[in-house]
This record gives sequence, structure tokens and C-alpha cells, in this order.
Amino acid sequence: MTARVAVVGGGLAGITAALRCADAGYAVRLFESRPWLGGLTHSFPRGDLWIDNGQHVFLRCCDRYLALLDRLGMRDAVRLQPRLDIPVSGAGRVGRLRRLPLPAPLHLSWALLRYPWLSQGARLRFVRAALALRAVDTADPRTDTISFGDWLRAHGQHRDAVDSLWDLVGIATLNARADDVSLALAATVFQIGLLTDSGAADIGWSRIPLRQLHGEAGHAALTAAGVTVIHEKVTAVRRAEAGWSVRTGASTYAADAVVSAVPPAAAQALLPADAVDLPANWVAALGSSPIVNIHVIYDRRVMDEPLRAGVGTVVQWVFDRTGASGLRTEASPRSAVALPAGAQYLAVSVSAADAFVDRPVAQLRREFLPALEQLLPAARTAQVVDFFVTRERHATFRPAPGSARLRPPAATALPGLALAGAWTDTGWPATMEGAVRSGESAAAEVISHLAGIRPRAGAAERTGMPGPRTRISEVIR
Ligand SMILES: Cc1cc2nc3c(=O)[nH]c(=O)nc-3n(C[C@H](O)[C@H](O)[C@H](O)COP(=O)(O)OP(=O)(O)OC[C@H]3O[C@@H](n4cnc5c(N)ncnc54)[C@H](O)[C@@H]3O)c2cc1C
Repeated sequence: MTARVAVVGGGLAGITAALRCADAGYAVRLFESRPWLGGLTHSFPRGDLWIDNGQHVFLRCCDRYLALLDRLGMRDAVRLQPRLDIPVSGAGRVGRLRRLPLPAPLHLSWALLRYPWLSQGARLRFVRAALALRAVDTADPRTDTISFGDWLRAHGQHRDAVDSLWDLVGIATLNARADDVSLALAATVFQIGLLTDSGAADIGWSRIPLRQLHGEAGHAALTAAGVTVIHEKVTAVRRAEAGWSVRTGASTYAADAVVSAVPPAAAQALLPADAVDLPANWVAALGSSPIVNIHVIYDRRVMDEPLRAGVGTVVQWVFDRTGASGLRTEASPRSAVALPAGAQYLAVSVSAADAFVDRPVAQLRREFLPALEQLLPAARTAQVVDFFVTRERHATFRPAPGSARLRPPAATALPGLALAGAWTDTGWPATMEGAVRSGESAAAEVISHLAGIRPRAGAAERTGMPGPRTRISEVIR
């Protein structure tokens, strides 16, 4: 009999886990409550455009995410900078974080020497702190109890260095300011991204809407791999006489193993209470952190680069979304808004957005348009054709000191049940890379649990595991 695996949640973690289990030869059902796949990476139509719920970027070091893109046949749909290059502006100054073809950390030395927000002394102190951060033991449980902000102050980092450099990178990757971040997570990000391999932090982004990149391509790959995608909300996952039962509003499905790939609150609601060995209030204690995106369409080009970071401004990062959204640069008669030829669509990504997430659109407009004009002089004479806001209240967990003990591993106390999701114990912050890694770990758990039950024929070529072709797809009503 072919073992049956149920994967609950169709974000990047669930897609990854389902593909892995299907490739290993198991009969996989993936349950997703929404009508699309891709989870927190999705897009919605607005006139002629596809709007991403929020700008997503990845780094060259995100090797598991890149492997997923390969599996989905989507590698050509992303752009990866050949060399890290971040134009930075703010407070009347302009800088550039561009790497040299030198080994890390020397690759950033030239950029640092010319970085206009740091005095000569601050540059030296920055280098000393960066070298000390390289030596931080991220595996030591005590490291997770220390605030990154406290650690930076203890290593001579003043407000200017924190605002213009540490937080510039940290807010975007960790979705929190240094004072609110665990040293273990911050050190992981900086060690992997900036201090070890010179190419690791080259930035990548999608050239097409996320819905196509992950959701539609994910659906196609899952279907091709034999996964049954069921768009139903799972209401409970329970132990059954032999294996597990997965209940939805309409049906109960039998499974030999389950991967839960839903957000923390959903996992707590769905799974048996003894699945994770965590304090009762773990979901609230882990918490969540919002990301807000401010979308502005100008009637002309106001920014020449694909992205720009801001210092001392509400505009943390701004991205040119014109190509990726499908905005046509010629006249666009079908659009909800009249888009003039040569229009440009920018998205401002605001992470750790607690202060902004509840502000009315009109107020955000009053704050962000002048800030964009400060950063992008061409915006001062351009007309705003459209302005709207997307808010993700639970974009990531809060990577606060002490959060590591609230992130469970893939293996649970219950045989045959594994956890996935960017919030689980991946060692990474809540990112696409973390989600994919979690899906891989959960699939490995399930596959090892099912080792005694043979996968279906054909899997042998993909996984090295032998097995006859049998397919069970019963639905218990
Ligand atoms: C605005 C924004 C910007 C971001 N920017 C970046 C970035 O630049 N770089 C980066 O790497 N990461 C970024 N992230 C984080 C990244 O998107 C997430 O870490 C990742 O997508 C999480 O994937 P996941 O599969 O773990 O969870 P999710 O994407 O949350 O997937 C969980 C899925 O489970 C489904 N589900 C929930 N309950 C049920 C149920 N009962 N039954 C069935 N299905 C259910 C949900 O509908 C969802 O599809 C950003 C996130 C946001 C919101």
C-alpha cells in the first residue's frame, strides 16, 4: 500500500513539503483554505496590474528557495543582482552599498569608506563590531536571550551606525529593529549574508507577480507530481486508529502522516494539544510583526534603479514594480485608472510597521509622498496617478530575544506528525528561505517515519527508494 501524506497549508513550506513527499513516492494531498497557493506571497488584480501583497526579495545565499524555484521551473522568472548594489539616500546625502570582487568582509570595504552617514571613527567601530559579530556563537542558547541592540551598543555602535547600516539590513531581513531582535537571529543573518561569502547578499526579486511565481507554478508542479490539491479549510488534525484523520468542513480524510504547514495560531487550533512541547501561551508569546507596502503610480519615471534604500526617512526601501506588475508603459485603456505612457509603479516596503499598520490611507499619503519627493527629486514634478496601501498584520513572527525556545522543530511528540512553516525552528528568520527549509525538514521527518511503508513505483528513479505502484485515495465521510 502506498502511504498517504496530508499536507495542511499551501504556502511555500507546504508546497515544498508536498513536492518532497510526492517525489519520494507517497500519495499526497495538499489542503489549502484559500482559492490560491503561495500563502503570504500572493498577488491580486487592480485594473491592468497584478499587485503583490508586499515586495519580496531574497539573497543569493537563499539556496533552498532557489532550489524550489528550479523545481517549479521558475528560475528565469527572477532577477539576481550579479553584484550587491544598493543605492541609499536620505537627509540630503547619497551613498551606495556596492560590493567589490574581494573576499568577505573586504568586499564591502570601499562602500564603507565612502558611506556618508558614518564618521571615520564610526567606520572603524563598525568594522570592529562586524568582526566580533562574525565570532558570535549562534548555537549557544544564551545568544538568543540577548538583544541585538544591547549587543551593538556594547560594541560601540551609536545611533547613526544602527540607523544607517545595521537596521537598514536588519529591518528588511528580520522585520524588527535591532532593539527588538534576538542576537542569535541577527548574527545568523549578518554572518550568512554579509560576513562569510562575498556574493551571499546579492539581492534577487521576481520579475513576475508572486501569484504566478509561486502559486500558479506551485500548483502546476504539484499536479504534475501527482499531488491532489484540495481547496478546503482544515478544521482538525487528529490521531486515528491507524495513522491520522484530517477534517475539513466537508469531509474527513485518512492519512498515514501529516505535515502541518500553517501559521502558529492555526497550528495551535488544528493540532492535538500534546503535539508541541511549548508553554500554553506560546502563540501569543511568539507574536507577529506587520509589514505595510505603500504603492504609488507616477505618470512618469521618477526612479532609475530597480531599488533604493532610505536613511532617516519613513521610506525604508522602495522598489520599481513597473515590469513585475504588468504595468504597460504605453497607453492602457483597460485599466481602472488611466495610466499614461511611461508611467512608473513604485512600492515602498515598510517593515516592523507597528506604527503604520493602522494609519488611514490619507495620512500615509501625507507622510509618504513628500518623503518620496525628498528621496527622488523627479517625483516632485510628477503626477500621482494611483496611491494605495497593502497591510499584512501577521507578516512574520517577532524575532525577539527568547523567541528561539518558542519555535518548535519539525519533529513533534506524535509519530507521523511534522511541523513546517517559516516560524518553526529553522535557525532563519521568517523568510521564504526559512519556509522552504522548514518544508524540507518536515518532509524528511515524515519520509523517515514512513520508511516502513513502500512508496509507489517510479519513485525509485527520483529518490532511490523502491516500491510498487498502488494508490489509495479513500475519503471517509
Ligand atoms: C508583506 C510581506 C513581505 C515579505 N517580504 C519578504 C521578503 O522580502 N523576503 C522573504 O524571504 N520573506 C518575506 N516575507 C516572509 C515570507 O513571505 C514568509 O516567511 C513565507 O512566505 C511563509 O511561508 P509559509 O509557508 O511558512 O507560511 P504561509 O505563507 O503563511 O502559508 C500558510 C498557508 O496555510 C494556509 N492555511 C492556514 N490555515 C489553514 C487551514 N486551517 N486549512 C488549510 N490551509 C490553511 C494559509 O491560507 C496559507 O496559504 C514577507 C511577508 C510578507 C507578508
